[in-house]
Amino acid sequence: MEGLAVVGLVFGLIVVGYFGVSAVLRRMGGKSLRLPTGAIPDTWHAIVQNNVALARGLSSDERERLLRLVQVFLADKHFEGCGGLVLTEEMKVTIAAGASLLLLHLDGPCYPTLRTVLVYPHGFIPKFARRLRTGEIAPPPARLMGESWDNGVVVISWDDAVRGARNPSDGENVVLHEFAHQLDTEDGVTDSEEYERLRRDAARDRPSALDDYGATNEAEFFAVATETFFEKPVQLEREHPALYAQLRKFYRQDPARRAPPPAPPPPLPPAAVP
Ligand SMILES: [Zn+2]
Repeated sequence: MEGLAVVGLVFGLIVVGYFGVSAVLRRMGGKSLRLPTGAIPDTWHAIVQNNVALARGLSSDERERLLRLVQVFLADKHFEGCGGLVLTEEMKVTIAAGASLLLLHLDGPCYPTLRTVLVYPHGFIPKFARRLRTGEIAPPPARLMGESWDNGVVVISWDDAVRGARNPSDGENVVLHEFAHQLDTEDGVTDSEEYERLRRDAARDRPSALDDYGATNEAEFFAVATETFFEKPVQLEREHPALYAQLRKFYRQDPARRAPPPAPPPPLPPAAVP
């Protein structure tokens, strides 16, 4: 009987899953975030309202917390304009709000390993060449919308960031994507089974709520899954309920409950009478 209990406990621990465990570790390990109490500039409310469409689905308490997190983010992280870009408050607040949306219900610190956000005006050619497995230098890739380095830097293309942030339901949001990589670097979150499923779907051209780019590797899978979780939550929950549940547990948010119900289909035209 005792043996059975031990087996049950071990099994239970396994099924809790890596997502759950890492989320718990994050909450226990990170110092609880102390939010500032100083006034939030009026302009920030308007910027978030105009540019960060996903914030419109938040409760007023959540929106307040989001802006507090933006305060922490802007006080803590260094922004730098690249490619001739002159940074504005709108750019910094929009990017910080997207990054903070991921942290909204997490207690851990604010991206503790991140120091700098580099912002380009448009898609950019990455500075560092990649080496292929054969040893050759990879040809320069197409322009990138963003990059996340593991030495404390995120790179963002501003026009892609604002386009992604203003459209809350196309599944594409470069800020969520790159900052999910930052969380992944902290936590090593991954879900192999769902990743393999996307690889099979992508290889067979089967449609999925998740973009094919997520089949690139497990890190991209987590970043793409995060974008989909926030931007297509209802579809993700329907098609991948286990993945949705893991992400809900990890982020401690349930965006499918928040998403506006889909518009009702237009009424059918009256049947033609012969
Ligand atoms: Zn990525």
